[in-house]
Amino acid sequence: MKVCKFGGTSMANGKTIGLVADIINEDSERRFIVVSAPGKRDKKDVKVTDALYECYDEIAKNGTCDIAFEVINKRFCDIAGSLTPDFDICGVLKDVKAQMEKTKSKEFCASRGECLSALILAKKLGAEFVDTAGLIEFDTDGNLLLDRSIENLQARLADVDRAVLPGFYGTDTDGNVRTFSRGGSDVSGAIVARAMGAEVYENWTDVDGFLSADPRIVDKPCLIDYLSYRELRELSYMGAEVLHPESIFPVRSAGIPINIKNTFNPSFKGTMIVANNKLPKEHKIITGIAGRKGFTIINIEKDMMNSEIGFGRKVLEVLEDEGISFEHVPSGIDTLSVVIRDEYVSGKMQKVLAKLQETINGDNVEIHSGLSLIATVGHNMASRHGTAATLFEALASNHINVRMIDQGSSELNIIVGVDTFDYEKAINAIYHAFIKTPSDC
Ligand code: ADP
Ligand code: ASP
Ligand code: MG
Repeated sequence: MKVCKFGGTSMANGKTIGLVADIINEDSERRFIVVSAPGKRDKKDVKVTDALYECYDEIAKNGTCDIAFEVINKRFCDIAGSLTPDFDICGVLKDVKAQMEKTKSKEFCASRGECLSALILAKKLGAEFVDTAGLIEFDTDGNLLLDRSIENLQARLADVDRAVLPGFYGTDTDGNVRTFSRGGSDVSGAIVARAMGAEVYENWTDVDGFLSADPRIVDKPCLIDYLSYRELRELSYMGAEVLHPESIFPVRSAGIPINIKNTFNPSFKGTMIVANNKLPKEHKIITGIAGRKGFTIINIEKDMMNSEIGFGRKVLEVLEDEGISFEHVPSGIDTLSVVIRDEYVSGKMQKVLAKLQETINGDNVEIHSGLSLIATVGHNMASRHGTAATLFEALASNHINVRMIDQGSSELNIIVGVDTFDYEKAINAIYHAFIKTPSDC
């Protein structure tokens, strides 16, 4: 049995949902289907989820969403009109709008795209619609309760032959609708796959598989045939947005492989994500490169810091008190740096710097913003000498200044921090240092 998740581009309009239905009908093992809200139909389009956040903003301001909801009406009337003409979508949309205005909940509003998308696909397939509200559970802080969710899904789906479930949301222990972070339908699909003990979790999107770099930055990057769960986690966390970084957790412990497939090229094998010991032998040195913009680094200097017991704890405690999580903490003998996402420190930086100075009495505390991080990831990096040399030589010969270096103890990756104006250039330089011709793929 297979669990399939179809993303926003696959669910974008009546025509693409028709392709989705064909893919499902082609294989009777595709029994549990998780869907996203309709995504962009072209570059300039809006995702339904973004339009729903706009509805929420209008509700928060005016109590109603008469203006913003028009976009939702139009999208779903177009889709249902061409796909399921007997389905009274207008009546459903009227109820949805009224519920959104009544609950005034941002997460409830955002969740309706997936709910409507699943309702329509279920009608088209003649399959059962099974709402994930009440099945996928969160605590009141919005943390997923995985074991309870698995039990709920197993009990509910035990006698169901084929079902369509909305991704992205569930309910908390108080019964309120809660969503995952953006792109979270990937996580919902993984939970359903784990609950039902799927043989494979198929994740259907708009590219042939996981590429070794972002195709918007590197021209025609190699397609990765096999990837380990750990490599996937590193690459997706660092910005390869094809899969949500948390989607491996539910499936990894059960050894369920994830197969990334292209809705628009369904016969292509795609990328398989598997456990380490299932990787084929010829796995390459470098599996992929991913990166993110928008980091700030706090550099702290203090003579003899290394012998001051508790110094690191004091620094991190200042961040903890401000509710800020950090990405990396590279250190030297008398220096310690902390790399933080801009969004976490926005509006708090001056306060953090003042508190740091007060707590640790440093010789120098300064910040450097406009930083991007780039991760070069590969299981075989640890066992090959010269990998770091190749990487830094590529950056140096392209006149790119490296602001930070971090190699995790797993030796699965090397992370470098560069100025954001060098970001695209740096990714291309690293990529082409390891992959010189298509035959290196
Ligand atoms: P979906 O709507 O199916 O969830 P997403 O937009 O979340 O799809 O993810 C697919 C997109 O991720 C691709 O269209 C591609 O532009 C982008 N992307 C970024 N990095 C990578 C990568 N390393 N491999 C493949 N796609 C990538
Ligand atoms: N629709 C949600 C989003 O746009 C979730 C998803 O597509 O996975 O983020
Ligand atoms: Mg996605």
